[in-house]
Amino acid sequence: MESLSGIRLFVTDDLAAGEILPLSRDQSHYLTAVMRRKAGDTVRVFNGRDGEWSASLATASKKVSILAVANQIRPQAKETDLWLVFAPIKKTPIDFMAQKATELGVSALLPVLTRNTAVSRVNKGRMAANAREAAEQCGRLMVPEVGALRKLEAVLSGWPQDRTLIFCDEGGDCPPVLEALQKDPAVEKWAILIGPEGGFTEQERAKIRSLRQTVAVSLGKRILRADTAAIAALAVWNAVFG
Ligand code: SAH
Repeated sequence: MESLSGIRLFVTDDLAAGEILPLSRDQSHYLTAVMRRKAGDTVRVFNGRDGEWSASLATASKKVSILAVANQIRPQAKETDLWLVFAPIKKTPIDFMAQKATELGVSALLPVLTRNTAVSRVNKGRMAANAREAAEQCGRLMVPEVGALRKLEAVLSGWPQDRTLIFCDEGGDCPPVLEALQKDPAVEKWAILIGPEGGFTEQERAKIRSLRQTVAVSLGKRILRADTAAIAALAVWNAVFG
């Protein structure tokens, strides 16, 4: 079994023995100039559908390297279905959130605009690149979806019937997050909602709680920064669902 430290690349092409994969300019440059890989070297590729395959570098070129797909190393495994819905915060680069959430297994990163959100724009492409790199590095077989910044009301009004919304509410009177995650073993689709530095307004809190799918939880008695809260909630979720 190849060590996990080998290079892994996310590609969009179908993967099957003998496939010839021309890589993007960025990936070609990364492989040859940064990682100094030569023709004949082996890398691993995954596309989120066909599992993970070994591939040899048929042509090593900074502009367009070509991979020849060899054999499947790991079949595609069903990954957990967990959305992180979060109000972007100024002091923490969105890249950090994308990277940590990907390492902690989220299937979608959905930035949301609330009354107190200090950020009005999100660089979706940058977030997606960070999520992809984190997925390559940590050994995942999927890359999280990255959503465009959307208003909280729109996200709530279109909330899926079958997805439980874990509402991290610093308001105080909520059960601990661990209890909420363990309450109903039948739940398969989850989301964790984290507010901005300024917290949710009372109206927003009421609106979030009005959803049948919402479970309000506490992450403890201290008020955590939004990025700390996201990581804390995701860590507990990982402890329960692994
Ligand atoms: N309104 C707070 C700051 C919000 S912290 C204040 O200034 O007092 C940012 C977000 O992190 C919150 O909206 C909430 O989603 C989450 N959060 C922080 N601490 C939390 C806690 N102890 N329990 C649950 N959620 C928490």
